[in-house]
Amino acid sequence: MTKWIYSFEEGSANDKALLGGKGANLAEMSNLGLPVPPGFTITTESCIKFLENPDFFDSYLKDDILKAVTDLERKTDKSFSGESSNLLLVSVRSGAKFSMPGMMDTILNLGLNDHRTRILAEQTNPDFAYNCYRRLLQMFADVVYGISKELFDELLEDFEKYHGKTTKDMTLAEHQDLVNQYKEIYLKEDQCFPENPTDQLFSAIKAVFNSWNNNRAKVYRELNKIPHDLGTAVNVQAMVFGNSDHNSGTGVCFTRNPASGENQLFGEFLLNAQGEDVVAGIRTPEPIAALEKAQPLVFKAFKEYARILENHYKDMQDIEFTIEKGKLYILQTRDGKRTAKASLKIALDLVDQGIISKKEALMRISPSSISQLIHPVFEEAALEKATLIAQGLPASPGAATGEIVFTAERAKEFHNLGRKVILVRQETSPEDIEGMVVSQAIVTSQGGMTSHAAVVARGMGTCCVAGCSELKISEEDRTLSCGNLVLTEGDIISVDGSSGCIYIGEIPTVLIENNEDLQRLLSWADEVARLKVRANAETVKDLETAMKFGAQGVGLARTEHMFFGQDRIIEMRRLILADKEAEMKAALKNLSDFQAEDFYQMFKTVEDKPLIVRLLDPPMHEFLPKDSQEIKLLAEKLNKSPEKLAHQIESLQESNPMLGHRGCRLGITQPDIYKMQTEAIFRSAIKLHQEGIKIKPEIMIPLIADKKELEFVKSYLTQHIQFLFREHEQEPFPYEIGTMIELPRACLTADKLAREADFFSFGTNDLTQMTYGFSRDDIGKFIGHYKKTSILSFDPFQHIDQEGVGELMRIAISKARRVKPSLSIGICGEVGGDPASISFFQEIGVTYVSCSPYRVPAARLAVAQAVLHEKKD
Ligand code: PEP
Ligand code: MG
Repeated sequence: MTKWIYSFEEGSANDKALLGGKGANLAEMSNLGLPVPPGFTITTESCIKFLENPDFFDSYLKDDILKAVTDLERKTDKSFSGESSNLLLVSVRSGAKFSMPGMMDTILNLGLNDHRTRILAEQTNPDFAYNCYRRLLQMFADVVYGISKELFDELLEDFEKYHGKTTKDMTLAEHQDLVNQYKEIYLKEDQCFPENPTDQLFSAIKAVFNSWNNNRAKVYRELNKIPHDLGTAVNVQAMVFGNSDHNSGTGVCFTRNPASGENQLFGEFLLNAQGEDVVAGIRTPEPIAALEKAQPLVFKAFKEYARILENHYKDMQDIEFTIEKGKLYILQTRDGKRTAKASLKIALDLVDQGIISKKEALMRISPSSISQLIHPVFEEAALEKATLIAQGLPASPGAATGEIVFTAERAKEFHNLGRKVILVRQETSPEDIEGMVVSQAIVTSQGGMTSHAAVVARGMGTCCVAGCSELKISEEDRTLSCGNLVLTEGDIISVDGSSGCIYIGEIPTVLIENNEDLQRLLSWADEVARLKVRANAETVKDLETAMKFGAQGVGLARTEHMFFGQDRIIEMRRLILADKEAEMKAALKNLSDFQAEDFYQMFKTVEDKPLIVRLLDPPMHEFLPKDSQEIKLLAEKLNKSPEKLAHQIESLQESNPMLGHRGCRLGITQPDIYKMQTEAIFRSAIKLHQEGIKIKPEIMIPLIADKKELEFVKSYLTQHIQFLFREHEQEPFPYEIGTMIELPRACLTADKLAREADFFSFGTNDLTQMTYGFSRDDIGKFIGHYKKTSILSFDPFQHIDQEGVGELMRIAISKARRVKPSLSIGICGEVGGDPASISFFQEIGVTYVSCSPYRVPAARLAVAQAVLHEKKD
């Protein structure tokens, strides 16, 4: 018989799928002997069954819940619904397999009603008892009936104003009156608050199950790629009260700093408060260090539990605790969310402490988070001149500039218009998630380092300043004021999430490079990896960046990018439009000189590492002007008739340029261009050899479809290279001529091409274009629709299409390696730098991936993880 409910003693940390992360951890902590209030977990399977058919609740769950409650009454020696005055109250919390902070619902203080609240008031004090009851009424209304929480807040405010005192000083009758008014809100909404604790519990559990499918939870799952069919578990736990008295309190604490990774407790607490007060950012909490003074014994015990938990889970923990009348309870622990910077430092420190291995450390860091480690900071010189408006808490690092907006909706609207926004709120709530995702930065005037804004921003790697209380934010008037300064929607500010500073206007950003911790981790990655990582780069600056990021060579230098400078494009145009041989030769000579200097610098930058130079690829018309004014100017410069020139340019236009006169087709019809490029490569290579730097040039021919094309180009290039050696009286040195594989026909005839080629490199951009027949320049117009209708689940230009394009690659590799087993085969299309595609490339047997310089660090980690995943599988 399926078991739908587990007491905390029955589960373990391994049961995350069934008991959810929170339930599994509560079970694990109970079994570790930590002071966890007793409770039980209703499984995720029950949630799925209930969502499929609500009758499941009455037929299968009700009796088991009642039994579990009786068991809880026995363990606590308290009564949930009976007559005993020893009251058991419970919390009901969601908890899915993967943490979804704040996305689903929670209700506290379940079990209170008018009668039981009076008992509680007699036993403790009226303020505490009615405070608990009001919280229950408010949460229950929100979670079970969807009645706005604000209605209750407004009522409380009005009530206090009317009576001229806070709830602390109210009489019992006034408290009861306030509760009655709370209940009237229910009645106005045609609802009723159930007095019976068991009815409350049943409704609460059903509501938490249903919250799995609320909108914000769905959006969060989409964003974090969490499957929609997992369901949430529900944890029912005996309440302990952080708001009992001044010896009570509640807090959240990370075992290490979640922003910097420093090995020091990092958290906040509030005395005489319930958990929601800390996370909701309503009251500003005190730093955890202050607990040592306030409650030394509790602090000592907490430190010890934190140590036990971190050692047990071998990772930084995010712990929720409550102190009830001087006794400490641990309510929850989970692996703490952290910035990429903290993630890296923590992983390295845990290795140094001997808690995890280097390989485990490599698996702890997500390649996609690496971009945050090379995140921007403001330019120092500009920062010195910038005007500081205010400083808040440095909640999530990074630097960003944008237009301010005050609501998540406006953030989305502006974003859709291509504008960069900074979301400014008093505090954020889970409903703001979509607006937060599209914002460059988030600023709040309330809440601490563990407030919703801070936690979510850190998880997303978005720059955030929280709790900036100097700012007065009016979401209604759409104004932000600080002293005399008033800003409105659309005004530009700059936010530094590492210092907490907010500045007026735009400040340029720069990237920090050469992060020592990152280099250390990546050196471990290189020890493990099988695939090499090269870079796609052609300017010296990009090559230098790539080398600094640890690229093991250059997989693709696109030479056409070297023709776009002012002084070069004119020579290129002269060459294309020449009608006399002499003019053509002069242009070729000038271009050869430019390129020889470029190649010399490039080879020098990469030193002994491989550098693949791809010969000209795009169709000629891409180098020519389209606009009549520009054509006129060009005609003047080239001393030609504008009409004739316009006609010539017109005749070079093609209907389908991507399928037209480009790549090796140009090399075949106009060998002079490829010869000129080869001459430039070898002039620089020979010069370097003569200077004692022994490089091995690698030349790559684009868009080969047929072996004969490759034979043709290779034949004249080889002859030309021999001629160049003779001309420069140079003893021949090794070089290679390889081909790009970017057409389906090239894949299917790869064995024939392999006989001619010294190496292969998959141009997956063109290969995807030619396989799907999707224009790589126009897919943006319909990919959104394709994704929405689930025809495609991803853009195949970003992640490899394993089934189609990938299958062609697999065929090509297997055919080629039959002919040349050790043929070097790379990937230089965009997907080469996509961490999610890299395991597949390893599986089909490529030699290296090549990507843009800033993607190199993530790719180095991904190639190591591909090996470690393989061992795990
Ligand atoms: C490719 O097609 O994947 C490639 C790398 O070449 P390009 O993007 O320059 O066409
Ligand atoms: Mg291409």
